[in-house]
Amino acid sequence: MTSNDEYIGEMSSIEDIATIVRSCSKCGLSGTRTNAVPGEGSDSPSILFIGEGPGFNEDQQGLPFVGRAGQLLDELLGVVPLVRSDVYITNVVKCRPPDNRDPLPDEVRACWPYLEAQISLLKPHVIATLGRHAMNRFLPDARISDQHGRATVWRDIVVFPLYHPAAALRSTNLRQTLENDIRRLPEAVLRSLEISATAAPQTEAGASAPIDLTPAETPSGDGAGQNRLF
Ligand code: SF4
Repeated sequence: MTSNDEYIGEMSSIEDIATIVRSCSKCGLSGTRTNAVPGEGSDSPSILFIGEGPGFNEDQQGLPFVGRAGQLLDELLGVVPLVRSDVYITNVVKCRPPDNRDPLPDEVRACWPYLEAQISLLKPHVIATLGRHAMNRFLPDARISDQHGRATVWRDIVVFPLYHPAAALRSTNLRQTLENDIRRLPEAVLRSLEISATAAPQTEAGASAPIDLTPAETPSGDGAGQNRLF
């Protein structure tokens, strides 16, 4: 464990995490970013949206989902209705991969403790993943065409995969599918609340587990610990 990881373990607020992310140099993406993008939103959100990584506009502004895909996400949240200040939005990796390539395994591994810490502090009722790559960090064997709009329990949190808004910008059908799925987010939150009301105390064990998990270790590839709700 690096001293940086030890520091992450002492973070007591979302802003603490953001501060360390902005000066982080744990992986090579620190050398090519303009700004790190820790995330933004409520510090007690019902829903935590997680994309794979920042794009050009996000890198320029240091904020998540601020390009055309972000505008579409805002528009679709409005049908629930929700606004950004109601939720929290972040990414698996906090710095933009050059040319928008997929993040490398060692980059995801280096950044994962920040996401772990954010999940532990934010305690969302629902994690809404945006796109196939973010979904597969939690549900490694799932196919987005099968899993979108379906709620699955990961640890003690409901994971609700969504298509990426950027994909929805390229397809009218996907845009409608994404809107239909987002309209079901309140149902996912309700199911999560029902689970919380009946949860045994031991479900807290996952949340307090060491936060230096790698993506390969975090989701159970055999489906253990995952229970589809709808
Ligand atoms: S991607 Fe994550 S681990 Fe890598 S430099 Fe940025 S904040 Fe640090």
